[in-house]
Amino acid sequence: MSQPTLKAPKGTRDLFGAEADSFHELEETARRVFKLFHFSEVRTPLFEPVELFSRSLGETSDVVEKEMFTFSDRGERVYALRPEGTAGVVRYFVENELAKKGGIHRLFYMGPMFRGERPQAGRYRQFWQIGSEFFGPSDAVADADTVLMVSMVLKKFGLTNFSVQVNSIGCKKCRADYRPELLKYLKSREGDLSEESRRRMNVNPLRVLDSKADGPKLKDAPLMKDFLCVECKAHHTLFLDLLSTSQSIKIEENPRLVRGLDYYSRSVFEWVSPDLGAQSALAAGGRYDDLVEQLGGPATPAVGFALGVDRVVAARKSGSPEGKTSSSKTAMVIPLDDKAVVPAFQQSQKMREAGLAVPTLNPGKKLKNQLSQAVDIGANWAILIGEDELKTDQVTVKDLATRDQKRVPSSDLLKHING
Ligand code: AMP
Repeated sequence: MSQPTLKAPKGTRDLFGAEADSFHELEETARRVFKLFHFSEVRTPLFEPVELFSRSLGETSDVVEKEMFTFSDRGERVYALRPEGTAGVVRYFVENELAKKGGIHRLFYMGPMFRGERPQAGRYRQFWQIGSEFFGPSDAVADADTVLMVSMVLKKFGLTNFSVQVNSIGCKKCRADYRPELLKYLKSREGDLSEESRRRMNVNPLRVLDSKADGPKLKDAPLMKDFLCVECKAHHTLFLDLLSTSQSIKIEENPRLVRGLDYYSRSVFEWVSPDLGAQSALAAGGRYDDLVEQLGGPATPAVGFALGVDRVVAARKSGSPEGKTSSSKTAMVIPLDDKAVVPAFQQSQKMREAGLAVPTLNPGKKLKNQLSQAVDIGANWAILIGEDELKTDQVTVKDLATRDQKRVPSSDLLKHING
């Protein structure tokens, strides 16, 4: 009897080859940039008690309402695979009483997240995020630094075509003034709204503006920016002033930007790229001054972001036609006959020791095939070693970009390609 074919679960995929390399490269790039800003890594569990997420993300968020993968632990407690990273990091911060140690805490994380969403391009059920949480500072400099830090990661990874949308969604105080106004407006449009928005309207009217289906219909809705209290206004003005000092990042004010999760206050931001399709958000974040207290810690202002690794990797691929991901230079060593295999093998290892990537020799394959394979893997050079080369203790270096080729003494090979 034939067995059913085993497949990866819906909305998940295996990462390998160039895509896996790119994930790694992005993670390494982020680590390097985070170091410049003095952030340190925290690795929290992949699952947490379900109430951590319902208490932090909000009962009415899409994630909590319908996207969590939950399971019970031997019937004792209900857990959820983490749908995002902030809740776990805040739980870590509270549980370890880091606030008691005073001052500022800068943490970053990276790893897989799980949401039972309808899979589509750029939307998976297991996806990867890199994020940071900056606990302690209440001023807008921390918000602006977060925006610069993420933009620096994206740029160093090789993305150029993105912008950052920014907005302020105020604090509890000014949102209390705004909410009834927005609700009044939404009630006047109730007939045009989807069932979901009508239901959400009374629980969290800001979310309705965020709705893909209804947001665009609500062009003349009152906007939060006209309701900001004096403190929130000053915070936002400084945030914008700080960001305007950076010429190399495209900042766009978007007064309709709200975030899907309940815990944000004041600054919110989102990185978008035209190189992606419908799922154009590369990363997003904002300030969350009430969340630590909401999860049982002492009132601690904080700001953070989360970047979608899958999408950033996809954006670089579609933005650069070659989609080459290897950061180290690659050479393919090609022995032209059997006698050249051992010297070619030795040469390969010498080159690896000098930091070049050199795939395992492919003896016995035709030169033409080996050269086209070298091009396929994005190699910079092919190093040919045959009878003539061995006699004179030389190698032939073929530059695969220019197609130029040259004989050089074996001992000069590294100097030649590094020069
Ligand atoms: P969020 O936690 O929803 O604010 O998402 C932050 C970033 O994670 C988004 O901007 C996306 O780049 C990425 N992201 C969120 N959900 C998914 C998903 N289901 N699949 C892939 N990437 C996602």
